[in-house]
Amino acid sequence: MKLKELNKMTVPLSSTDKMPVLFLGHGSPMNAIEENEFVTGFRNVAKDIPKPNAILCVSAHWETRGTFVTAMENPVTIHDFGGFPKALFDVQYPAPGSPELAKETKSIIKKTEVQLDDKWGLDHGAWSVIKHLYPNADVPVIQVSLDYYQTPQYHYELAKELAALREKGVLIIGSGNMVHNLGLVSWQNLNKVYAHDWALEASDKMKQFILNDDHQSLINYSSHGKAYSLAIPSPEHYLPLLYTMALKDKTDKVSLFNDKPVAGALTMTSVKIEAA
Ligand code: ZN
Repeated sequence: MKLKELNKMTVPLSSTDKMPVLFLGHGSPMNAIEENEFVTGFRNVAKDIPKPNAILCVSAHWETRGTFVTAMENPVTIHDFGGFPKALFDVQYPAPGSPELAKETKSIIKKTEVQLDDKWGLDHGAWSVIKHLYPNADVPVIQVSLDYYQTPQYHYELAKELAALREKGVLIIGSGNMVHNLGLVSWQNLNKVYAHDWALEASDKMKQFILNDDHQSLINYSSHGKAYSLAIPSPEHYLPLLYTMALKDKTDKVSLFNDKPVAGALTMTSVKIEAA
């Protein structure tokens, strides 16, 4: 990398128009290297929004005790899965980190003492989708971890503290899957569009809550009955949605894309929040 480019990346984050916020249903890691309608959806959303100064990603695949933020200059590409072809393990996504944004993130979160991390990197919840948004890996990316000791309400409130970053050109991305039950997934049909009845029922309810700004019902997901408990057997793929929704201002508009179920027990449904 040329010195000039390096300097550009270490310039303090400047004020910008309010950036959109995304929730990306990442689905199968194979989406990183396959061509399909979901990958096209990721590419299209990037074309619709201003190119960010940096990305802050909350991925389902980084759970910790306490909240951490990646603070290294050059995060490694983590291949945090097994049983996939070598071609997937060969993928590198060499986006730089942003120690400046990591420090800024730590300073604006008051809810807890955020710790700077130098050991993680980019897990597949981040790189398998961000790779399609910015294939040249020219936007710095940091990750914020999910504290698995905390309640959904806590995550939602913590996410709200990130709001100021939207006006510094930071694209905040929650990466998970709203409906995600790997125990009931059809592994032979990972990208086949179909769903069990319970998955559709839970998905429809979630979408209603999203489109009606009913955030409290999104937060109280564990009180919505059988379909919901099958859709969210563990919270880590759902919680990134709460980070995204918490950042919606009253006047922002919300839209869905990649809104399809796959493999019976996953939904790829993704959310875009943007200034109206
Ligand atoms: Zn995942």
